[in-house]
Amino acid sequence: MKLIVGNWKMNGLTPALEEAGALRQALEADPVNARVGLCPPATLIAQMAWKLGAGPVELGGQDCHDKDSGAFTGSVSAPMLADAGARLVILGHSERREGFGETDADVAAKVEAALRAGLEPIVCVGESLETREAGQAVAFVTAQVRASLPDALKDRPFALAYEPIWAIGTGLTPTLDQIAEVHAAIRDALVERLGEGGRRPPILYGGSMKPDNAAEILAVPEVGGGLVGGASLKADDFIRIIRAA
Ligand code: PGA
Repeated sequence: MKLIVGNWKMNGLTPALEEAGALRQALEADPVNARVGLCPPATLIAQMAWKLGAGPVELGGQDCHDKDSGAFTGSVSAPMLADAGARLVILGHSERREGFGETDADVAAKVEAALRAGLEPIVCVGESLETREAGQAVAFVTAQVRASLPDALKDRPFALAYEPIWAIGTGLTPTLDQIAEVHAAIRDALVERLGEGGRRPPILYGGSMKPDNAAEILAVPEVGGGLVGGASLKADDFIRIIRAA
């Protein structure tokens, strides 16, 4: 079963709860053969958990601190996300790596924090356009995979997300062959890093996934789902992507 996760980024005020309600209704009226996650801003998680109940949509955060509590003004911890109703958490998104200087080691520490809180991490990796044009995409991404995953993941549920930075929010996507090549290399790196435990985690594709390209991307070998930004903000678009799975 594919895992399709919406990443609202820093978008969504209280009225956006209606989109989550519409998503729940649509999925309850016509169930899909996919696991669906939604990662709104942290401020909406608790209200959304109330609105979505134990329905077909799992909630997630978009980041967490690597400590469980303490003097870290402005930060949100993994236990806080879990307490608000989250089950998932996106970690190491390129917007965090680039904009906030998060290193692979930082991401690995956050993954450990997420596991302590019982959250299922979605660990993001992806190359810049410069790296791809230099022919280094596979080497770069697999190095990120090896360095961002702590040993603790060996027997815990998690997902990887391959998101080429140049495809995020641009309308550009890699060719299906390029996606297949990177996903196969990520699978090998996961097995090398975690042994047999590396065969299970779904490897999501993210970066300009839309209703009209979702089906062909989701059919690529080793694509275990999608991490969807812009097209997850409106329930109508997001549902069309989910149905493509
Ligand atoms: P996009 O974003 O779908 O808007 O390209 C994906 C992401 O950054 O997770």
